[in-house]
Amino acid sequence: MVGNWKMNANHLEAIQMVQKLSYRLDPGDYDRVDVVVAPAFTALRSVQIVIEQDHMPIGLGAQDVHWEPEGAYTGEVSAPMLAKLGVGHVIVGHSERRQMFGETDETVNRKTRAVLDTGMVPVVCVGENLGEREEGRAEEVVIGQVRAGLNRNLGIGSVVVAYEPVWAIGTGRNALPDDAGVMAEMIRETMRDMADTDVAEGTRLLYGGSVNAGNIKDFMAKRHVDGALVGGASLDPDSFAAIVRYFR
Ligand code: PEP
Repeated sequence: MVGNWKMNANHLEAIQMVQKLSYRLDPGDYDRVDVVVAPAFTALRSVQIVIEQDHMPIGLGAQDVHWEPEGAYTGEVSAPMLAKLGVGHVIVGHSERRQMFGETDETVNRKTRAVLDTGMVPVVCVGENLGEREEGRAEEVVIGQVRAGLNRNLGIGSVVVAYEPVWAIGTGRNALPDDAGVMAEMIRETMRDMADTDVAEGTRLLYGGSVNAGNIKDFMAKRHVDGALVGGASLDPDSFAAIVRYFR
């Protein structure tokens, strides 16, 4: 379960959030579920220190990365910089970055490779927008994004793929669990075609889009949905903890 905190919480608030989350989870939860929080860049160091000092079994995630390891890219942060901070997962190609910040399939591919080359796990986001779904093109769009983002990247290290229909992100309008299950199965099939069965079966597929404590169970019941990428509901430690403990 990955909590994407987006551009919320300064470093002091982020410390409190991760502490509250850890108070609400116990070893049995961590045995069942890998938990990752992705604060803003400015809070990574503070959250990393708390996680390490208190031996929290919570993974640290980043929300974006640049594809070059260093250089004249004002305002950007590189994969080696994140790895040095103890970041284990990096969200790549989130729809908000695709829509608002010019992220393309090509940059998603390069960023994914940079994350893998640095030994971290990319969480590659794919998903159709409302118009594409209404035109019946959801599968075609998502297959295209998976192929473009993962091309020459599969098999190098662990990849996580998050299926996030754009119309379901931050809208309170989630996909039907059946639809999410079908799309996840199709993503797995695409990876089987691109790489091999072991890679496809070993890749974790997340659903994202208005996941909350009330609907998580229905998504997790789908055979090809292995977890969730959670935005809004991850900002409240109570609701994110309830999502992590969906199996109870
Ligand atoms: C997200 O940001 O990836 C997301 C799924 O957001 P929300 O849960 O708020 O829809």
